[in-house]
Amino acid sequence: MQATKELCLFCRIISGDIPARKMFEGDDVIAFEDINPQAPTHILVIPREHIASLAEVNDRNKHVIANVIARAAEIARALHLEEEGFRLVNNCGEAAGQTVFHIHFHLLGGRPFKWPPG
Ligand code: 5GP
Ligand code: ZN
Repeated sequence: MQATKELCLFCRIISGDIPARKMFEGDDVIAFEDINPQAPTHILVIPREHIASLAEVNDRNKHVIANVIARAAEIARALHLEEEGFRLVNNCGEAAGQTVFHIHFHLLGGRPFKWPPG
């Protein structure tokens, strides 16, 4: 979690300060339903460690992201999303649509997705 007193929104969801529909809670990673779903399945998969964005990932913390992606794949398989296909999305920076600056991956499934994403 973030060390400072002013925790970010997702650090507050991790701490339980803000409620969320959590569907996975591990030692390093949690997952919960997005409040504004863009697909029949829309789950946010995040590390407990506060990393602001993908732009801050480096050799020191890359294991954190590996854990997040492995957990996302497990959740996708548990929900049988791999049968039709699914999308794992990271928005990095404001121009890419990032609004919460605690790194997260959107696990989206249950409908077809267009490419390019726009
Ligand atoms: P971003 O735009 O940063 O890639 O994604 C942030 C996501 O967090 C959005 O899809 C948004 O709907 C979701 N979100 C924002 N606030 C909350 C909240 O309080 N609870 C939950 N569960 N999701 C949230
Ligand atoms: Zn945070």
